[in-house]
Amino acid sequence: MQQAIAGYHQDEHRDWVAELACGHYQHVRHQPPLAERPWVESAEGRASMLGHLLRCKKCDLGAPADQPRVPRAVVESNRQRTLELIQAIARGDANTIADTYADDGKLHTMGNTLISGIYDKSQIRQFAGSVLEAFPEGLHYTVNAVTAEGDRVAVEATGQGRHVSGQDYINHYHFLFTWRDGKLLELKEYMDTEAVTEVLCGGARPE
Ligand SMILES: [Zn+2]
Repeated sequence: MQQAIAGYHQDEHRDWVAELACGHYQHVRHQPPLAERPWVESAEGRASMLGHLLRCKKCDLGAPADQPRVPRAVVESNRQRTLELIQAIARGDANTIADTYADDGKLHTMGNTLISGIYDKSQIRQFAGSVLEAFPEGLHYTVNAVTAEGDRVAVEATGQGRHVSGQDYINHYHFLFTWRDGKLLELKEYMDTEAVTEVLCGGARPE
């Protein structure tokens, strides 16, 4: 039976797995000359194949779905860990922040500002404490909404603090946390990048 690609994840060996509309998983490795799938190596390539039909042998065999059902208790503990992490970020608690991440965890600060980019755990540990240097009186987050589902927690929040330059800093965030076995696999932060440039970067932009 032909089934559409609905999404992707990586397995424990970092090989790509397509999540099919039927709920079955199928490896989509790029392993020339056995399997030529250069598209799977890039986010753009994977996105371009969403909706593409693959033959699903598991459907032909009537196999049960592979989609893991994340237990409610895990969803709730992910929600709780997320709120605790936001408090650790607000008080610049670098060790708690870094220890929350999985060893292969990543922080993705969106946009094209001087501080945008993808950071690994050692980089996160280095600069997590710099919040206190930038905001000597601390940074206050107001959490407006939390949505926890599967292994992901989405948070709408407002951050406020007096920057070391004397300027008031207010930003509006949408954080997306992805958890794995109680450790943070990825945090993506979406925010008003103009406010980041104006206050945190003193108006400076990448060349
Ligand atoms: Zn299937």
